[in-house]
Amino acid sequence: MPEGDTVWQAARRLDEALAGRVLTRSDLRVPRFATADLTGRAVLDVAARGKHLLTRIEGGLTLHSHLRMDGSWKVYENGRRWSGGPGHQIRAILGNTDRTAVGYRLPVLELLRTADEHRAVGHLGPDLLGPDWDPDQALANILQDPTRELGEALLDQRNLAGIGNVYKSELCFLLGVTPWLPAGALPADRAEKLPALAKRLLEANRDRPIRSTTGSRGQDLFVYGRAPRPCLRCRTSIRVADQGDGSRERPTYWCPTCQPGPAPATTRRRHTN
Ligand SMILES: [Zn+2]
Repeated sequence: MPEGDTVWQAARRLDEALAGRVLTRSDLRVPRFATADLTGRAVLDVAARGKHLLTRIEGGLTLHSHLRMDGSWKVYENGRRWSGGPGHQIRAILGNTDRTAVGYRLPVLELLRTADEHRAVGHLGPDLLGPDWDPDQALANILQDPTRELGEALLDQRNLAGIGNVYKSELCFLLGVTPWLPAGALPADRAEKLPALAKRLLEANRDRPIRSTTGSRGQDLFVYGRAPRPCLRCRTSIRVADQGDGSRERPTYWCPTCQPGPAPATTRRRHTN
């Protein structure tokens, strides 16, 4: 699942390829917008807002897309072979005379008036990588429902925008509590650190091809994906269990020694993401 840093990188790639250039190719392969033709219009910029991508196009239009679990935007030099997946997975093509951006498996693709972008992203909390970042508001949002599990509160993009399943587990490790701890039970000293810590993780990885939360090469993550290997700090076997509301369960990793707090009794030895 893409995190805010992945989406930010995708926005930058698209912006570099398309911004300031007139579209010579446009193909939106979703029924509602299949007849929309954007050729002849310049792309103004491409921005990430949380995990949403906003491609602003001359004439007051915004192409809104979301990658969800496995969507992606690839950029190709014209004449190069496209390699992002089979043709039937292509949802969008935007190209100029040099390069072509191809959106694969995009579960959300819609054309909006730029003035109506808030309909797509207005529900988002402060964006960890955005100009509107507000650490106090983000923390207040997380603590708003003190009974809610911290891991769930961190994933809720209405609280703060940009954290996905990997950073959820890593952040709870760095905070020294399990993701099942009620948000209101987070000790005050750690609650205070939470917004800055989350921002630091995403910022550190914004320009990196390989995500790292540990700062050390070869061991990029503290807990995510590491069950049942030993914790980097204490050598206890990392555990994994699903966390979610029943409709969307997410594999969640933690160290039972470094991270006190409630946790499910059952764990699986192996889990593929
Ligand atoms: Zn540990």
